[in-house]
Amino acid sequence: MNADFPRSRDEIIARIFEAGVVGAGGAGFPTHVKAQAKADVVIANGCECEPLLQSDRYVLESMAKTVVDGLLVMMLSTGATKGRIAIRDGFPEMLETLEKSVTGARGVDVVTVADNYPAGDEHILVYETTGRVIPQGGIPPDVGVVVSNVNTLLDVRQAMDGVPVTSRFVSICGDLPRPCLAEVPVGTSVSDILALSGNAAGIEEKGVLLSGVMMGQYCDDLSTPIDKRVGSVVVVPGDSELLARKSLSIEAMIRRAASVCCQCRLCTDLCPRHLMGHAIEPHKVMRAISWGRSFIPDLSGALFCSGCGLCGVYVCPMLLSPDRISYMVRAEMGQRGVTAEGQPEARVTPVRAGRLVPHERILERTGLKPFERDLEFTGALKPESVRIPLSQHTGEPARPVVKEGDAVAEGQLIGDAEADGISAKVHASISGVVTEVDGWVRIERR
Ligand code: SF4
Ligand code: SF4
Repeated sequence: MNADFPRSRDEIIARIFEAGVVGAGGAGFPTHVKAQAKADVVIANGCECEPLLQSDRYVLESMAKTVVDGLLVMMLSTGATKGRIAIRDGFPEMLETLEKSVTGARGVDVVTVADNYPAGDEHILVYETTGRVIPQGGIPPDVGVVVSNVNTLLDVRQAMDGVPVTSRFVSICGDLPRPCLAEVPVGTSVSDILALSGNAAGIEEKGVLLSGVMMGQYCDDLSTPIDKRVGSVVVVPGDSELLARKSLSIEAMIRRAASVCCQCRLCTDLCPRHLMGHAIEPHKVMRAISWGRSFIPDLSGALFCSGCGLCGVYVCPMLLSPDRISYMVRAEMGQRGVTAEGQPEARVTPVRAGRLVPHERILERTGLKPFERDLEFTGALKPESVRIPLSQHTGEPARPVVKEGDAVAEGQLIGDAEADGISAKVHASISGVVTEVDGWVRIERR
């Protein structure tokens, strides 16, 4: 690792905080908080198990040394003596590149995990790579592990040089003329991103999903800006089952569940968290929600739903979305302050090994197989304007420190946060003039 890097844990945490680094894998948890955990292992999560996406793979293949440096920084901060880069089986060239890159990095190795979905889920990844079982409702530090996405580790490395997070690598893929990869400033609109891949002809007849087809959300407004947590824009055919499930309103989905959920319990039998021994049983959540949330104990298992999407996108034969409903119930419980305290220890079920779902089967079932291809990196996108959300992380939104009419330079602080809370700083992703401040900061390039 570069000799100029800080050796003091406090200095590392301070630099990560100043740079506004948050989990790039989707949750957006502030990384300076994660860096304060005590652990003996740090896992670099390069599993990228969502179909079609290749941003993590691009980062690992083209910037492996930088990721290894980021991993070493997190090891220093958490006190870990072991670093482990985890990727899925089936990428021999990437494995070779990584094995070369970890040469000389003390305590760091590379491991492959079976190509099942969701290989990148923290509970599953920790179990598969260390054999440790995180408690129900728990987090990796509960068993001495910290997990960071490889893009996050790239940001951690840059933070050591005082470089804030202003862009991210995005997979632009699916039913598009020219699917590709690009480096995109935070706050760029989905329509500007889609223009990179052949102007997205006929996009109004198709559907757009942000952050993956399994866990991602349907996007019905192409002016939506991407933020630090969004690593993909996926376009799916307008007549796909996948889109029909994702785009139906949650109220309509609940009404549909009340009439057609046959309680076959397939969603529960294949739920990856249920197979890890967690109390989640989505078929019971569906039953309770169909009856006006009347069976509270049945709903409570939703607290352990990871939102992986498997039960909805892949499993349910009635085209229902137990995933979206379970995740909604989980959010409602979170708002009411319900916690996982007092839950029994998770015990991995003996049938788990026979119920794992290979990545390939998901591609087939979702109809995405024809859209699978290697994505070429097209460079950095330079939009004329950006709309940067002040809340793009877990915790409190950042506090705006600029006002309309201010000139800002790329990398300048525009949203501040308190170091001792759960929040993250936000920086200008392009140079220009602030034209609006309202839960976000709009900057026009000048
Ligand atoms: S798989 Fe679908 S139909 Fe079967 S119990 Fe689950 S939600 Fe109901
Ligand atoms: S989304 Fe479905 S399969 Fe995934 S953890 Fe939640 S209930 Fe289980």
